[in-house]
Amino acid sequence: MRKEPLAIILTADLAAKARGRAFRQQEFQKYLNSGCGWVPANLAIDAFGSIVTPNPFGAVGDLRLMPDVTSIASVALNETGEQTTLVLADIHTPDGKPWACDPRTFLKRAIADLDAETGLSVVSSFEHEFMLCDDSGSPVNTPFSLESFLEEEELGGRLVAALDDAGLEPEMWLPEFGRNQFEITLSPARALVAADRAVYLREITRHVASSLGKRITFSPIVEENGGGNGVHVHVSLRDREGRFVTYDEHRPSNLSEVAGSFAAGILKYAEAFQAVAASAPLSYERLAPQRWSAGGIFLGENNREALLRICPLFNTPGANHQKQFNLEYRAADATSNPWLVLGCLIRAGLEGVREQLPTPTIVSGDSDSLSAEEREALGIRPIPSTLGEALDRFAESAVAREWFAPELAETFVAVKRAEIARAEALESEARYAAYAATY
Ligand code: GLU
Ligand code: MG
Repeated sequence: MRKEPLAIILTADLAAKARGRAFRQQEFQKYLNSGCGWVPANLAIDAFGSIVTPNPFGAVGDLRLMPDVTSIASVALNETGEQTTLVLADIHTPDGKPWACDPRTFLKRAIADLDAETGLSVVSSFEHEFMLCDDSGSPVNTPFSLESFLEEEELGGRLVAALDDAGLEPEMWLPEFGRNQFEITLSPARALVAADRAVYLREITRHVASSLGKRITFSPIVEENGGGNGVHVHVSLRDREGRFVTYDEHRPSNLSEVAGSFAAGILKYAEAFQAVAASAPLSYERLAPQRWSAGGIFLGENNREALLRICPLFNTPGANHQKQFNLEYRAADATSNPWLVLGCLIRAGLEGVREQLPTPTIVSGDSDSLSAEEREALGIRPIPSTLGEALDRFAESAVAREWFAPELAETFVAVKRAEIARAEALESEARYAAYAATY
């Protein structure tokens, strides 16, 4: 039996799933030019594959997935090494204009506005944590141990190779702190490339694992009081000459004035876009204090409880502090769409620069030991404790809603409210299992 080499055009939706259409590889050039058909109501597909109704689109309308050649990735899908070409698309309306509800267009517009108003651009990298679902009983996972590396050396080696082949520039692979937990990181890249890579990484990782007969999950939490799987988004700022401008050795904690305003914007609007960054009901079990995920809304130095962390610098020979220095947003997870998350971080940061917000209080040291009064004095705010509360905060924020086309905001809220109802109808064990299976 013959097997046709295929290429696939993809978008990623509000459930953070890559979806698209495949065609013959030899017709790739044709589809690069023409794109392929798409349906507005696809934006209302939830994490479990159903179209949520009502949604603003119904059965009406047509769109096109228009591939962006800069995002082409090649993936070996099986042992023969046979390559499948993947490409990410912007969603266009039939008259050839970007669709205002397209998540990738959302990020592109945020990038363009940041550049137009400030001359700045964002360099970013997404760190992903995930867990092996099948507990073999072997001593996986003793964190960072050689034992764990060796136990999963097939997975680690194959994964790094697949990400490398796909052009994702893998950086680090490590057994993490949680039970059966691993982490994979990629090199920093300009914002759109970094978010594109995050879309690919999740799909490629699941595929590599399943081709080895393993199941993994990026679900934010897989058991009660278990470790959390975070997506930590690193950002730094660059000017039009390509100079990194996050670092200023003459300022407190080396954070430049403009990066301080950018950070202040992220903190100011943190509750408003929290639902976009951590988009499942389960996400909020992870986002609790004393879990090293993000235990409060503050800017922290060397503190893994901070929503936004100033990452440390190291004086290694030849170190480039300007380039190295970055902020880490810790409150995202893999139930969120990378284009929307980074788009919101840029939008919020831009508001901070526009409003000329001063650098927020930088909390150093251990925040866990602080009393309620001390937390308040430092301006530490709690993260919304449920997805429902986070959606309320989004709805209340006129500024954050303005970032979104009205139908995009409406669809996001409808999909997520429906998901809350669906998740609430499940027993706790079944809920963990459903999210582990989906993500
Ligand atoms: N697993 C932690 C989280 O849920 C992060 C641990 C770390 O890498 O600092 O975000
Ligand atoms: Mg980690």
